Amino acid sequence: MVSSEAAPLAKTGGLADVVGSLPAALRACGDEVAVVIPRYGSVDLKSARRVYDSLPVFLGPTRYVTSIYQAPAEFPCFLVDCPPLYGRKGFYGESGVDYPDNHIRFAVFARAALGVARFLFRAQVLHCHDWQTGLVPAYLQTTFSSDPTFLGVQTLFTIHNLGYQGLFPRTVLPEVALDPAVYKPDGMEFFGHLSYIKGGIAFATALNTVSPTYAREIQTPEYGFGMDGALRARAADLTGILNGADYGVWSPEADALLPAHYSAADLAGKRVVKQHLVAEFGLPEEAMDRPLIGIVSRFTRQKGTDILAEVAGQMVAEGIYLVALGTGDPEYEEFFRGMAAEHPGQIAVRVGFDNRLAHLIEGGADMFLMPSRYEPCGLNQIYSLRYGTVPVVRATGGLDDTIEEGTGFKFREYSGAALLGAVREAARAFGNQDLWREMMVRGMQKDFSWKASAAAYSALYRRLLGGL
Ligand code: ADP
Repeated sequence: MVSSEAAPLAKTGGLADVVGSLPAALRACGDEVAVVIPRYGSVDLKSARRVYDSLPVFLGPTRYVTSIYQAPAEFPCFLVDCPPLYGRKGFYGESGVDYPDNHIRFAVFARAALGVARFLFRAQVLHCHDWQTGLVPAYLQTTFSSDPTFLGVQTLFTIHNLGYQGLFPRTVLPEVALDPAVYKPDGMEFFGHLSYIKGGIAFATALNTVSPTYAREIQTPEYGFGMDGALRARAADLTGILNGADYGVWSPEADALLPAHYSAADLAGKRVVKQHLVAEFGLPEEAMDRPLIGIVSRFTRQKGTDILAEVAGQMVAEGIYLVALGTGDPEYEEFFRGMAAEHPGQIAVRVGFDNRLAHLIEGGADMFLMPSRYEPCGLNQIYSLRYGTVPVVRATGGLDDTIEEGTGFKFREYSGAALLGAVREAARAFGNQDLWREMMVRGMQKDFSWKASAAAYSALYRRLLGGL
C-alpha cells in the first residue's frame, strides 16, 4: 500500500485510520501486505531500522536521495526519508497553505515507493490511496511499462476523497519527469492543469472508493468535482468498499483514552465519561441532563459547518448543548469560534488535533453530528455507533450506507432547516430515555469491523491477478 498517511505514525484523517488498520485485517485473509509512507518531521525514527541507504530518485536531470526506514509494526511499514522534502511541520502544507513543491514531494514519493517495490517488498498489487499516490500507476504505465521488475504488477487506486485532486500547472510535467503523452483529457489533463488524482483514475488497473453510495455519487456532476465523466468512463472497473473500524482502538469497553468504561450490557460508565467531557469543555452541570451533541471533524467546507452555523442559535435556544473539536481552514475554524463566542456555556469549541479529546467526545456525547456536504465513507459515525453516541447525519455517501432508522437520524437536503429538523427529532427521542437506550444499544451491536471489507479487498486483488 502506498499512502501519504498511516495511523498511528502520520494522521490527519480517515485515510490514516484505513491504511493503519486494513493491512492487519488483510493478513487474516492470507495476504501479505507492506505499507509505504513519507517520513514527515513528526515521525520519530528512534525505534525504526534503516533498511536501504541512499535510494536515488532521478526526475529528469535532478537527483533526490532518499533512505528507507522500517518502523516496528504488525506488518512491514516503510518510511521514505528525505528531510528536504518531508522533514517539515505539516504533511501537505502549513496554516492552510499548501507547500509549493507538493508536485515534487509526491513525485519523489511515488518513485521511492516503486523503489521499495523493486528492492524491499516485491508486491503483485500496488494499492495506492488518493492523489498523493496517483503518479504510481502513471509512472508504471509509461516510464516503467517495459521494466521486467513490474511485469504483471497490477494497481488498485482507492479514492478516499475526490475533493482533493493534486492540481498543478502543466509546466511541472518535465520537473516530475512524466511522459508528456499523459497530458490528455483521458489521461492526467484536467481543464488546463495536471491532475495527480487522474493519474490514478486513468492508469490504475482498477478503482474503488470507500462506500457503495459514494462510488455511485462521484459518477454524477453533483459530486464528481468535474471528474464524473472520467469516472463514468471507468465505471466497469469502479467499486465501493466500505471502510472498517478498528475496534481494538475504538471500543468503549477498553478505550485507554476514556476516564471510564462501559458496554452495551452496562452503560453506567457513559455518564461518567459525559461528566468528564462537560467539565473538560467548561459546560455547566445542567448539560448533564440535556442532549449533548459532539463533533470531531476537519473544519472544511465539506463538513457542513455553514448549515450548522445557520441554525446553531435555534439549537441552543431549545436547550441543546454542543462540543466540537477540529482543525482545518481558518475560515471554518472562525465559524466555530464565532458560534462558541455567541453561545458561551452551551457551545464549546476546541481548535486543534487531539486524539484524547476525540475519544472523550465519542464516549461522552449523547449524539454525534455529521452534516457533511459529501462524505466518502466517514469513520466517526461508525465509531459513534460503537460508543452509543447516536449519529445525526446527512444522508450522503458512507453516512447513508452506515446509518439507518433505529440507529441514528438522517436528513437529506443540504440545508440548515433539514439539519435542524433531524436534530430536533433526535432531541425529542432523547426525551424518552428508555427508548433512547434501546437505540444506543442497537447501534453498539452493529458490526463495522474490517472483516467483511478486508475480504472484499482481498477478493478484488485476486481478481486483478486473474483469479489467482
Ligand atoms: P475525514 O477522513 O474526512 O477527515 P473521517 O470521519 O473518515 O473523516 O475520519 C476522521 C478521523 O480523524 C477520525 O478518526 C477522527 O477521530 C479523526 N479526527 C478528525 N479531526 C480530529 C481532531 N481535530 N483531533 C483528533 N482526531 C481527529
